[in-house]
Amino acid sequence: MVSKEMLQLGTNPSAIRDLFEYGNKRKAEIGAENVFDFSIGNPSVPAPDCVKEAVQELLEGDAVALHSYTSAVGDMALRQKLADYVNDTQGTTLSAGNFYITVGAAASLTITLKALAEPEDEFIVFAPFFPEYRVFVEMTGSRLVVVQCDTKDFQIDLDAFEKAVTPNTKGVIVNSPNNPTGVVITADCIEQMCTILRNKQSEYGKEIFLIADEPYRELVYDDVNVPYLMNYYDNTIVCYSYSKSLSLPGERIGYIAVSDKAKDWKLVYASVCGAGRALGYVCAPSLFQKVISRCIGQTSDVNIYKKNRDLLYQALTEYGYRCIKPDGAFYLFVEALEEDAAAFAEKAKEYELLLVASDSFGTPGFVRISYCVSTEQIEAALPAFQKLAEAYHE
Ligand code: PLP
Repeated sequence: MVSKEMLQLGTNPSAIRDLFEYGNKRKAEIGAENVFDFSIGNPSVPAPDCVKEAVQELLEGDAVALHSYTSAVGDMALRQKLADYVNDTQGTTLSAGNFYITVGAAASLTITLKALAEPEDEFIVFAPFFPEYRVFVEMTGSRLVVVQCDTKDFQIDLDAFEKAVTPNTKGVIVNSPNNPTGVVITADCIEQMCTILRNKQSEYGKEIFLIADEPYRELVYDDVNVPYLMNYYDNTIVCYSYSKSLSLPGERIGYIAVSDKAKDWKLVYASVCGAGRALGYVCAPSLFQKVISRCIGQTSDVNIYKKNRDLLYQALTEYGYRCIKPDGAFYLFVEALEEDAAAFAEKAKEYELLLVASDSFGTPGFVRISYCVSTEQIEAALPAFQKLAEAYHE
């Protein structure tokens, strides 16, 4: 009667959403201030002033033009500005014709995968990974191939990666800064991964695409540099979003950029347009296309996340938790204090701590803490983290 796969997806919410809903219920029961909700990646830092100013000014203007359809691929002037900005900051040679405006990174990814996927294709992801990758890849009929990162630094295990690339590999999704680890993949590691890919392309006589999922690009601390993958590998497609960098997750706005160095890039871009059309992702919200156009190059105040990271990292390691210090995004990936991360996350609930067990990220034994919350929430939660650790050490 209905699609079994879609029914299954619709009736089994993601572990993150599930915990988020539990948190809302629990907050209604005992008061929001008594629940330490670290479940979801909803930015806690407000959007920069340019967003509000742009919205206010735009609302004063011509309402018909403001709310009209733009072209299916997004407003031409916006796409040109994006090309200029990326060229200025990354030294690329892109034009408006390389950009497709989307409703956030999720749409950027689903469009890109749909544009590339053919029967029998495989897409490689590095675990731990954003759990929706599985849904997005399998939705195209392709196979998700998981390569574990080295858990000592969460960089790519290059030997395991090389073994995982097969004649069926169509693409590799790279997410740096990473959700859930916060790790930025080093330029050296990226270079070696790209060399492997180029060799495999020659060996198999086919293109393999790098899909750079970059919603956290600007969320980095201590001047860490995030390598721009188009500068390392020609067959690259960037999936970008303003959900995190401008704190606009509910507005649903982002873009796809197809490298002008990709083989037959105009055909790849045309296929992106086709996939956008097939999925109904044409003409992203007109108001926010115009807002973005006025805010290019701006970000929310990243220092607040850095303060949260430092506070949480220092306190948790003092209490005996183990995790690597992340360079970006707003997540800590902490070793669970028992083998079963789901059992540990359940135990944490007894202290009103909502932590996401790592199983759905593809790497068991950890929990993800989203520290995009108020600094006050972190301060208030520290005694609970300490008691939780003590309960295991006793
Ligand atoms: N990719 C990663 C790694 C994410 O963490 C998220 C959201 O948290 C997305 C994609 C989806 O982002 P968007 O809200 O822009 O669709």
